[in-house]
Amino acid sequence: ARHTLFNLDRLIDDVLQLLHPKAILMGHELTPQPPSSPVIIEADAEQLKQVLINLVQNGLEALADKGVVCVRWKEMRDRISIRVQDSGSGIPPEYMSRIFDPFFTTKGDGTGMGLSICHRIISEHGGQIHVTSQPGRGTTFNIHLPIRQVMK
Ligand code: ADP
Ligand code: MG
Repeated sequence: ARHTLFNLDRLIDDVLQLLHPKAILMGHELTPQPPSSPVIIEADAEQLKQVLINLVQNGLEALADKGVVCVRWKEMRDRISIRVQDSGSGIPPEYMSRIFDPFFTTKGDGTGMGLSICHRIISEHGGQIHVTSQPGRGTTFNIHLPIRQVMK
């Protein structure tokens, strides 16, 4: 892994700009909720970007007409919290234990790889990723990451 120190606000901004055209085409909204002071994190920026792209893309794909995907992040005492929340279809309870499995997909054209890659990347950073979902109301992915990486 290639860990560097970088500004997380900028990285999330890049991701939202990248997916903005897709959101507009689908008729949806992407809403950043940045913290009041900048967040500097040590991580593999390219990999973390991939995680956020996968989560926001899943969020957009789960939305029906005129939905919202909201990304909120903040620095906590000893870690960073990133939350990707959508107002979409939700995940049926019987699928909850399988969504991080490689190749699990409910989409006709899905690969089922997105969340398994997210899980691997976050684990390799010493972090956690959790999901809560209410069918018909939406889904929230919560990531916790250490602010600094320890040498492995
Ligand atoms: P893919 O997007 O190719 O299907 P993922 O690994 O990204 O693969 O997601 C696996 C499955 O988890 C999806 O097919 C979908 O059923 C479910 N899922 C993931 N994110 C969401 C979400 N935000 N809302 C509803 N279902 C989701
Ligand atoms: Mg996906």
